[in-house]
Amino acid sequence: MPTESIISFDRVSKKYKGEIIALDDVSFSVNSGEFFFVVGPSGAGKSTLIRLLIRQEFPTLGKIVFEEIDVTKIPRQMLAIYRQQLGVVFQDLKLIPSKTVRENIEFALDIIGKKKHEKKETADYLLEVVGLSERSDLFPEQLSGGEKQRTAIARALANDPKVFIADEPTGNLDQDTAAGIVDLLKTVNSWGTTVMVITHDKQIVDHMKTRVIKMKEGKVVSDGNGGY
Ligand code: ADP
Repeated sequence: MPTESIISFDRVSKKYKGEIIALDDVSFSVNSGEFFFVVGPSGAGKSTLIRLLIRQEFPTLGKIVFEEIDVTKIPRQMLAIYRQQLGVVFQDLKLIPSKTVRENIEFALDIIGKKKHEKKETADYLLEVVGLSERSDLFPEQLSGGEKQRTAIARALANDPKVFIADEPTGNLDQDTAAGIVDLLKTVNSWGTTVMVITHDKQIVDHMKTRVIKMKEGKVVSDGNGGY
């Protein structure tokens, strides 16, 4: 079976208010099932890529295609369904402090209307995948940095997304904890899920020997298997 493009950015530019150019003529295409990194200094436009992909923002110019769908043309009432296909772990994780690990995961399943037993079953499975079965009744503030990251990963996986996106998943984690997170991302990719990781972590990028899209000042400056 030929590999199919799942995400494509075609000559995309993004100008924010105040004439700030966040993306400048960016093109790349990602095949279904790929694992790739997006690297580059702060302000390079990495988070803007995510915002455009999840339709939090519109491009100023260019076209973004997910599978065969023109992302800018998705009707507002279809956005929630579109976004369920993209599991995103944001840099600030967005965990709900008043909910336990399990409740944080189950919350994502409530939104898509899963029944109680299905919710429990899926949450049990995801807790096991991320290694938090024994910690499921704790609240976010009771967790280590790595455990918080794992909780956010489990929640982002709750809808069984086609694309999993993590923004700096190993930022502020020690080397061993970061290595554990990378293993988890590899597991997610082994299911066939496309994985996009934004990172500053040279070590994990060099270790993975996979595709790296390097950005600077809103442009893609290199794209290939060349390490950080
Ligand atoms: P990165 O994730 O690589 O650090 P961003 O995509 O966050 O980069 O930002 C790219 C550029 O766009 C930066 O100059 C940033 O200050 C600017 N920017 C990001 N978000 C906004 C916004 N909502 N309004 C105005 N400028 C923004």
